[in-house]
Amino acid sequence: MIAPTALFALDTLLTGEEREIRTTVRKVCDREIRPHVAGWFESGELPARELARALGGIGVLGMHLDGYGCAGLGAVAYGLACLELEAADSGLRSLVSVQGSLAMYAIWKYGSEEQKREWLPAMAAGERIGCFGLTEPDFGSDPAGMRTTAKREGGDWVLSGTKMWITNGSVADVAVVWARTDEGIRGFLVPAGTPGFTVNDIKHKISLRASVTSELVLDGVRLPDAAVLPGARGLSGPLGCLNEARFGIVFGAMGAALDCLETAIAYAGDREVFARPLSSFQLTQEKLADMALELGKGLLLAVHLGRLKEAGTLTSEQVSAGKLNNVREALEIARKCRTLLGASGVTLEYPVIRHAVNLESVLTYEGTSEIHTLVLGKALTGIAAFH
Ligand SMILES: Cc1cc2nc3c(=O)[nH]c(=O)nc-3n(C[C@H](O)[C@H](O)[C@H](O)COP(=O)(O)OP(=O)(O)OC[C@H]3O[C@@H](n4cnc5c(N)ncnc54)[C@H](O)[C@@H]3O)c2cc1C
Repeated sequence: MIAPTALFALDTLLTGEEREIRTTVRKVCDREIRPHVAGWFESGELPARELARALGGIGVLGMHLDGYGCAGLGAVAYGLACLELEAADSGLRSLVSVQGSLAMYAIWKYGSEEQKREWLPAMAAGERIGCFGLTEPDFGSDPAGMRTTAKREGGDWVLSGTKMWITNGSVADVAVVWARTDEGIRGFLVPAGTPGFTVNDIKHKISLRASVTSELVLDGVRLPDAAVLPGARGLSGPLGCLNEARFGIVFGAMGAALDCLETAIAYAGDREVFARPLSSFQLTQEKLADMALELGKGLLLAVHLGRLKEAGTLTSEQVSAGKLNNVREALEIARKCRTLLGASGVTLEYPVIRHAVNLESVLTYEGTSEIHTLVLGKALTGIAAFH
């Protein structure tokens, strides 16, 4: 028997440092996340602060950024960390993606020197948490329509509006909020507790239950001019951050798929049906072989895109291709693994159904599968079919 990843000799594409980082993240997941994650999922409660400190302690928060306490590691190393985190739970990877690739990246890329010094070292250490408010109740796939406004009043800005479905919202010390201004869309750093800024958790989720998701309400929130991100103007600001986070998902989704496949292979070896191991039947082996193929192709694609990112040539269309393919295939793998586990597949005793329902959110956030399909359609035809 060989591991699904060994079939593709994936490790031959990785450096020694990348393999070490993968092992470090896996150990933390095994010690601090896996024993508890089904319980967090069931109760819908996550010890986000403790987890952020533990993950900051091993340097994964903003690990692909340079300076200000960040590790400055390569894209593949970051991707492998996302893979290991999502093999534990997509909610944990979401915490890390939002912190490092959305909130920290926005400050790192578009922030002033003061903003970087104030927030990035503490966020890298996991002592402070960030969230990223782009989506609104009526504008998700089409953020250009956003209604949140920021108006100048003297030397200040006054923000009003509502952001919806915001990961890390109620545990965040700072919200990166995107708002419409006379100068186009701009980003603002809104510290928790600012008068007029309230956060309400979204309850009754059946997916990503080990993740905090909130509504942000801004009711005349007054901020100094120093709160605006000076380097971001227009929608390209938030879209640049989303591109970073989507890259992590290309790897992360394969982590969830790998955990499902390893679980199903072990289960099918142990489970006897009609007096033989389930794994000895041809129908089972066809399922396992098909899943291993999609997993291997997805992993090879992820590493390839990572190397392009490290070379500075990765395009947003290529990230869309990776996100669309790998999340779609991961969801398919999770569903197929679920069938192999029979009735046991619907309980939280095994991670498969948890991954499957989590991946439904991953399919939708950071650009839905339909929107990424349209991105590829535009790239192939030159015609935008969004409107
Ligand atoms: C758990 C979770 C966490 C999230 N975290 C964050 C966060 O931290 N920050 C943040 O800003 N947002 C976050 N989101 C929001 C997420 O990015 C949006 O849900 C997503 O962009 C889709 O927007 P929507 O839900 O409004 O769906 P809509 O945009 O209303 O889409 C509904 C359906 O219509 C389809 N559709 C839309 N436009 C077209 C078109 N032109 N052609 C064909 N079909 C189309 C979509 O693909 C989808 O199937 C999160 C969402 C979830 C579920």
